[in-house]
Amino acid sequence: MRKHYKVIYSICCSLFAANSVHAVEVCGNFAQGELIQAKAENSAHIFLNDKELPVLEDGTFLFAFARDAQLQQTLQIDIDGKLTNYTIPVAPTAWDIQKINGVPPRKVTPTDLDNRKIDKEREDLHTALSYQIKTPYWQKGFVMPVNKGRTSGNFGGQRIMNGKPKSPHQGMDIAAPEGSPVYAASDGVVTLSDGEYFYTGNVVVIAHGQNLSTIYAHLKNRTVQKGDKVKQGDIIGHVGKTGRATGPHLHWGASINGIRFQPLSLLKIGDKNFCKNL
Ligand SMILES: [Zn+2]
Repeated sequence: MRKHYKVIYSICCSLFAANSVHAVEVCGNFAQGELIQAKAENSAHIFLNDKELPVLEDGTFLFAFARDAQLQQTLQIDIDGKLTNYTIPVAPTAWDIQKINGVPPRKVTPTDLDNRKIDKEREDLHTALSYQIKTPYWQKGFVMPVNKGRTSGNFGGQRIMNGKPKSPHQGMDIAAPEGSPVYAASDGVVTLSDGEYFYTGNVVVIAHGQNLSTIYAHLKNRTVQKGDKVKQGDIIGHVGKTGRATGPHLHWGASINGIRFQPLSLLKIGDKNFCKNL
């Protein structure tokens, strides 16, 4: 009798194991502007809309849906040398309309000279966001970079500055008194610490591995240098209003594989309540 049970047990569990090998766990909100953390065991190659994503040895990968992402995406996962397609529905997000008045006119309509500075700013940010850091520091999770701040602008808001429609907001704004400390939201490596940019003023970028970076802009000052390793909670600068800002606030941005997403979705990393199997 006992032997009989043993046989049943082994049948049940080998079936279960075979199933779990192919399970793809996804964590996050399938909506425009959101970050998704996922794991496909035994898979080394994963593509989102034909673009290959960096994958950790255990099959962990990250991706984000852009603000204006198509409402249907294709995830391709290589399991045992065979590509399996998953169609992912992406919910539309209703973006805010943000009316911002009192912006210095030159910051709304830049001069030719400003445009040259803006090109340099874009290039520096692009370079900083392209650094490849192997260690997946992001797995530690994220905290808010300012204590007791107030959200004064949401990610993705369509901005109307002094009555002129401008490009959507690429991060979130956290209003706090000038000089409030700004903390590294997670461990990582500083890939940009520079100042006097037209839009971002004094800005710090931290890479957290797997092409995931966070951006901290309009700082009054910066207390880290490019190449510094930072720990979650380290002070990297202080809240200011440098660049294009009408008052002291931190512009907190997040980017993965060059796609900007809602930084608040970083706070869900590691929270199993947002996970399901594909
Ligand atoms: Zn902002």
